[in-house]
Parts: sequence; C-alpha cells; structure tokens
Amino acid sequence: MTVISREAPPRETVHGRLEVQGLAKAFGGQPVLEGVDLSVERGSTVALLGPSGCGKTTLLRTIAGLETPDAGEISLSGRTLSAPGVHVPPERRRIGMVFQDWALFPHLDVGSNVAYGLGKEERGSARVSETLEMVGLGGFGDRMPNTLSGGQQQRVALARAIAPRPSAILLDEPFSNLDAMLRSKVRSDTHRLLREIGMTTLFVTHDQAEAFVLGDEVAVMNHGTICQQATPNDIYARPANPWVAAFVGEANLVNADAMGGSARSMLGMLDLEHDTTGPCTLLLRPEQLTLLAGDNGEILDIEFYGHDTSYRVAVGDEEVLVRAIAGPRFAPGDRVGVAYQGPPVMAYPDTTTRT
Ligand code: ATP
Repeated sequence: MTVISREAPPRETVHGRLEVQGLAKAFGGQPVLEGVDLSVERGSTVALLGPSGCGKTTLLRTIAGLETPDAGEISLSGRTLSAPGVHVPPERRRIGMVFQDWALFPHLDVGSNVAYGLGKEERGSARVSETLEMVGLGGFGDRMPNTLSGGQQQRVALARAIAPRPSAILLDEPFSNLDAMLRSKVRSDTHRLLREIGMTTLFVTHDQAEAFVLGDEVAVMNHGTICQQATPNDIYARPANPWVAAFVGEANLVNADAMGGSARSMLGMLDLEHDTTGPCTLLLRPEQLTLLAGDNGEILDIEFYGHDTSYRVAVGDEEVLVRAIAGPRFAPGDRVGVAYQGPPVMAYPDTTTRT
C-alpha cells in the first residue's frame, strides 16, 4: 500500500541535493524509464539531454510527483519523496516546475500568475514583487501575459516556479518557444539567475549546445536510461559509448585493432586512453584530424562555414570528417595527408553497446 506522506515540507528554502535511484516506469506494459540513476548536487544545474521519446519528460514528471514510479527512489535534501510505499504529493515536494509552453494563465495578470503557488500570507507579502525584481521584471505585476514578449513570458514562468522558494526546480525545454536570437540571451540570463540564487536545477533539452552551455553536468539519456552523467568536457572527451560520442558532437567512429595501450588504424598506430585488446572502434573528433601534404587520403567534399571548413575525406576503407579553422585549401579529388593530432584516443571494444 502506498502511503501518501503528509509530513510538512520544511518552511525555509533548502536548495538541496536531488537524487534518483533505480527509477522505473512503464505505460501500458511498455517500459519508458528503466533503472534511472541521476543526481543533481545542491545548487548546481544538470542538463538532461536525449533524443525525442527517450523518456525525459516522463522522468521530470515522475520527480515532480505527477507520475508514480513502478520502482526506485527519489529524494531531495535528504527527504524521501518517492520510494516503495511512499508518495509525497507534488504540492508538498518543494519542487518548482517550468513547462515547455510556460503554462501562464492568460486571464491573470503577471503578479497573480506569480502569486499562484503561494500561500495566503505570502500572496499579500512583498514576495511577488521581490521575485519579479529577481527575474528583471520589476514593475510588470499589472501587465497581462499577452502584452509581454516571449522572453518576458518565460521569465514570468520562472518567477512563478521560484516564488514559493522551492528546494529544486525542473525545467522542460524552457527555451524551445523562443526564436534563435532571443533564445541564447534568455538562456544566458536564466543561467545567471539560477546560479546567483544557488538553485538546484534539472532541465530537459534535446539541444546539445544548450546542454553544454547551461549544465554544470550533462546527463545523457537514451531508451529510458541514463547512459552517462558527467561534466560537458568529460562527456565530449570521454563519452561512455559510441552512441553518446555521436550524439554530443561530430564523431568519426573508425575500425581499429587494439593491442594494450595502442591501436592500429587507417591512420597508423594511435595511443589509447585506456588499454584494450582486439577489434575496436576509435573516436576521432573532426577537429583532431589535420590535413597535410601527403597521399593517404582523397578529398570527397568540402563545406565552408565562414569560421571553419569541413572536409569529407576517404582514407583507406573509411570516410572521415576533418574540421580546419581556415578557408578551403583543397578541392574534391585532391590527394592529401590525414593525421591525428590530439590526446590519447578513446577506444570501444566491438562488444560495447552502441545505444
Ligand atoms: P520529447 O523530447 O519528444 O518531448 P521525451 O524524451 O520527453 O520526448 P517522453 O515524453 O517522456 O519522452 O515519452 C517517452 C515515451 O513514453 C514515448 O514513447 C511516449 O509516447 C510515452 N508516454 C509518455 N507519457 C505517456 C502516457 N501518459 N501514456 C502512455 N505513453 C506515454
């Protein structure tokens, strides 16, 4: 039997550590979350990055208490929110949520939208105006949502989520309704604000750049599980498997044969990050390959982006992308030398899962 916990949430804001362990959820017998482990350190931001349909929103909704998990545990600031037999209802979790469409009430002014989740006493206090100041919307309390820009509406949604002083906030694709120009400004502003107030934050995105810019850590999700949670730098340089490598950037995944600390590839012997033996796949980022005088490769295509140039090059049986910070120096059909210039290479034994 599930006990609905009526334990009062702590009165004061405690931005706490969010921890999820072994979370599972199925809809109609179809698993959507399978053994999800995730943690967000107190005051830090984790970006939950994954392809469409991998279960990101379901995970967020389960943490918020809007879905009941089939197995696993969720705790915040050391307080159990979900566990076998325990379900703290959403309004007692001290979790704020910002949805993709911001879900502002169109018939309520900005102040009333922000006051919505507050208790009676707090509604009459300075909390609403203080929170609007905090998000840079001081004096906007009487405005109706439809008189605001997209960026301002997003900030009202953020103000509504943080006004009750939650211990953590969850954001589901909060910038996806904004056009590209506004998006990068609004996300920098949001990032700065959340950092200033030291809010424990988990936000969902399927945009790799956004995840890397905003996340102190990135949790990469696929098929209902977290494949890897680490700093953006670690995820990019040492992805857990070839699928993560390709999902978080351009990746040349080439065949090789490893012998301990090095591997024989179409680019000769390369040093490896970890010892391994036998057939494997190497990760070579395009910017780690350089074009020189030589003839181990042939240029197939060139794309010039202004700030850099991308070459598709045939080398032996493989095709690789090479990125160079310069205008095009070659033409399709040219013979070139391709060399690796980078740190020891990540190698994945061919038994490694690719999803
Ligand atoms: P997107 O990036 O497209 O929003 P997502 O990673 O957030 O996707 P979810 O919305 O969590 O993915 O959905 C994961 C899977 O669970 C999908 O196959 C979806 O159809 C299914 N699903 C989600 N909610 C329900 C529900 N209430 N009933 C049945 N199936 C559901």
